[in-house]
Amino acid sequence: MPLLIEVAGLGKTYEIGGRALNVLRDVNLEVGCGEFLAVTGPSGSGKTTLLHILGGLESPTAGSYHLAGRELPKLDDDTRSRARATLIGFVFQSFHLLPQLNILENVALPFLYAPEEEPDAYERSAQALAQVGLAHRLTHRPPELSGGEMQRAAIARALVMRPQLILADEPTGNLDSETGRGILDLLVQLNNDGATIVMVTHDESVASRAPRRARMQDGCFAYA
Ligand code: ADP
Ligand code: MG
Repeated sequence: MPLLIEVAGLGKTYEIGGRALNVLRDVNLEVGCGEFLAVTGPSGSGKTTLLHILGGLESPTAGSYHLAGRELPKLDDDTRSRARATLIGFVFQSFHLLPQLNILENVALPFLYAPEEEPDAYERSAQALAQVGLAHRLTHRPPELSGGEMQRAAIARALVMRPQLILADEPTGNLDSETGRGILDLLVQLNNDGATIVMVTHDESVASRAPRRARMQDGCFAYA
């Protein structure tokens, strides 16, 4: 299994009022293509910070991170933005859909970063929405959907560029448990279809759906 994610000696330190806050320290992690990893750990243990670094939204202050063989934090801004848009799909706890756009338009947003692929934007967005069971909701706007439907739309947006990696931050955190189970079923199915997924959650029962789990504590992995 080729490696998709290679993290070595990774650290993240914030300077606050002249004091150093070590949010991540000596994080080591390898994720192979096709894996589904759940990162658990209590609130404040650094899960979201790690996910933001894996997604190229933040840079580490120590160590190295390679995604598909390229050192993402070292790329220039344009190259990194493009790599982020085409290689990575994000799913957030609060969906991050734009309320004034319909679902089809929301899912097509990532094509703004890939202009040469834009002629196919709506067709591929409709396909992605069909994949998550929302083929009947294309022209609805987010406020007209249930929470579970909004998260399905957000997952369609994460899938639409056919990324190598899906990153999900507490994807069931705003959903009731039954709706959350439906979203986890969908992530499991996407993984069975070949997607590589890293999901972070503080909820052990959510994490238990992932074939591989790792626990963070105080900014690093506590391996059993
Ligand atoms: P988790 O997702 O596990 O709850 P986070 O990664 O959100 O944890 O946060 C880990 C720690 O880093 C927390 O103590 C948080 O307050 C701190 N932190 C996160 N982002 C910042 C930031 N931009 N500036 C300063 N401290 C931050
Ligand atoms: Mg978090």
